[in-house]
Amino acid sequence: MKLLVANRAEIASRVFATARRLGWRTVAVWAEPDREAPFVAEADESCCIGPAALDRSYLNADAILAAAHETGADAVHPGYGFLSENTAFAQAVIEAGLVWIGPHPEAIAQMGAKIEARALAEAAGVPTIPGASGGDLAAAADQIGFPVLVKASAGGGGKGIRIVHSAGDFDAALGEARTEALRSFGDDRVIVERYISRPRHVEVQVVGDRHGSVIHLGTRDCSSQRRYQKLIEEAPAPNLPAAIRDGLHEAAVALARHIGYDNAGTVEFIVDAASGEFFFLEMNTRLQVEHPVTEAITGLDLVELQLRAATGQPLGLSQADVAFTGHSIEARINAEDPYDGFSPRAGPVRHLSVPDGVRWDASVAEGSEVTPYYDPLIAKLIVTRPDRASALDALRDALDELVVGPVPANAGFLRWLTDMPALRSGEMTTNVIDALGPAEMGEPPSSDDAAPAAAAAWMARLRSRRTAETASPWSALGSFRLTEHRAEAAVLLRDSAGELHEVAAGALNGAGTEALATASSADASSVAVNIAGHTVTFEVPDRSDAWAPTATDDTGSVDAVAAPFPAVVVEVPVVIGDVVAAGDVVVVVEAMKMLHSLAAHGAGTVAEVRCSTGDAVEANQLLVTFEQHERELPADPS
Ligand code: ADP
Ligand code: ADP
Ligand code: MG
Repeated sequence: MKLLVANRAEIASRVFATARRLGWRTVAVWAEPDREAPFVAEADESCCIGPAALDRSYLNADAILAAAHETGADAVHPGYGFLSENTAFAQAVIEAGLVWIGPHPEAIAQMGAKIEARALAEAAGVPTIPGASGGDLAAAADQIGFPVLVKASAGGGGKGIRIVHSAGDFDAALGEARTEALRSFGDDRVIVERYISRPRHVEVQVVGDRHGSVIHLGTRDCSSQRRYQKLIEEAPAPNLPAAIRDGLHEAAVALARHIGYDNAGTVEFIVDAASGEFFFLEMNTRLQVEHPVTEAITGLDLVELQLRAATGQPLGLSQADVAFTGHSIEARINAEDPYDGFSPRAGPVRHLSVPDGVRWDASVAEGSEVTPYYDPLIAKLIVTRPDRASALDALRDALDELVVGPVPANAGFLRWLTDMPALRSGEMTTNVIDALGPAEMGEPPSSDDAAPAAAAAWMARLRSRRTAETASPWSALGSFRLTEHRAEAAVLLRDSAGELHEVAAGALNGAGTEALATASSADASSVAVNIAGHTVTFEVPDRSDAWAPTATDDTGSVDAVAAPFPAVVVEVPVVIGDVVAAGDVVVVVEAMKMLHSLAAHGAGTVAEVRCSTGDAVEANQLLVTFEQHERELPADPS
């Protein structure tokens, strides 16, 4: 059999691994930004399906089917996201005579819209959150009682969700939610439901086959979320009375049976931490990002079960065969800045060092580039231990060792989270992280704090390299030689903001040991250290030209607007000669599935437009320049 994975990154690698183990041949499809991505090289064959600009290639069903035809693939696995819950794509795969690695398309359609899914859950006897989707929604909201949640029926990935606190705000919120739902999902229907103020997200993994067997593989808790998106997931869900846990298992299996479910899927619930009640949230008719924690405690390979079910074989195991051992936790390592609203960031991975004793499902390797085109998940760090407390400790220890940079990542924030009392006690709810103030979030170390450890780590690495090369101590060092010579007095480092730090030799002794630094470097030109989970990266400049002024574009200047980070231009609402005021949006860029509006910093006339829709732009690249009218104070941000 030959399996094409209609997806990218870590999930493509994950699926290939099982396919390889089972002796299937593998095909990767890739778009231009992923040319060098690890998953492409891992497949037996690969096929380019699209260009770079404003990339939507992984949503291009025709191109993917053409690739399947061209490579003679027998089966298509959709991964998650993209086309994984697209009924038309599933049907097209089947009509092309290929095996669809997923449930029958009708099940995808039935669960695709939350409105229909709710009705089916009710029909299967599964409790749903009190709410409404038709008729006078404002009246329904009054009846439910505020606060209420307005949710896109076709939603996914946390998009299109709004909390409304009072009747006066309802109409405006409804309008916004409909607009966002239409723009993101092409369907403006919404659900209005009771807002559960202490919601735990608990879900049940199910798997079925075409012979009528449906079993569950236990619970997962995914309550550590930001913006309704999961950050940490664990199995089994902690702190659940046996009656609730059994109720969740039964409800998930009942719903799956009700729709004749015949592959891997997840039924998501909210458990109200205040009352202990549980309610159906939605069903995801695909493999889930967090499936590894379930694999870890059941010893099962979920992709193997998917392949088995999709090719018409029986699952080969009954509910009684499923045993749960230990506790497993997954942390999503995202290229994002938690201290800037978890805003996604692109950038290079020059340093990558992964601790032992963990499962690491990643989309990057040392030397990879995280591009602005896709979502910010770069890896999943999974630890499994006999009990929950030791699993949390092991996750914390692993995050204390992980080095990944200089692309900004959330690892330091996750490290901080592992010690948060609400998580430790199993009382995390989905709104806790969003409510954290900046001061409560365990701020990242400053480069001043990190510089001594980095300098010490760099020196230690230099020395160990030198010792290793006993025959000719200098030959292997190449350019290190001169640098070390200079480093005897002090190590010179340049931080990500371009500031120089000179660490005197005297300050190096002991710096590395105190700071729990882990250094990693592909060459001698940069060094990265882990300080309390945060990777801080420094360049090690050549001393002779280090003091030369570095070119820094002023992205905040009044007479130009520059890209704040690598991004793709999606809209340029101005043309040369337009008169703009401070705060007027002049360019809209997209980075990792989030839109950012870039505004003029002062009043002026557009002099040059240096970008157009679809352009990929680098950080600090000038996009629009102005002839200034007069200097103004920046608009009041409030
Ligand atoms: P899960 O519950 O498994 O996290 P999500 O619905 O949040 O499921 O989405 C799974 C993954 O797919 C996430 O990484 C998300 O960013 C990505 N994703 C969701 N929708 C899309 C889409 N339309 N295109 C590309 N990726 C998507
Ligand atoms: P998506 O398809 O975007 O994943 P979900 O319906 O699964 O949407 O909801 C995503 C998250 O939103 C949940 O994990 C939970 O944190 C929160 N949420 C959803 N419905 C409610 C509700 N009624 N009350 C409180 N939180 C909710
Ligand atoms: Mg969900």
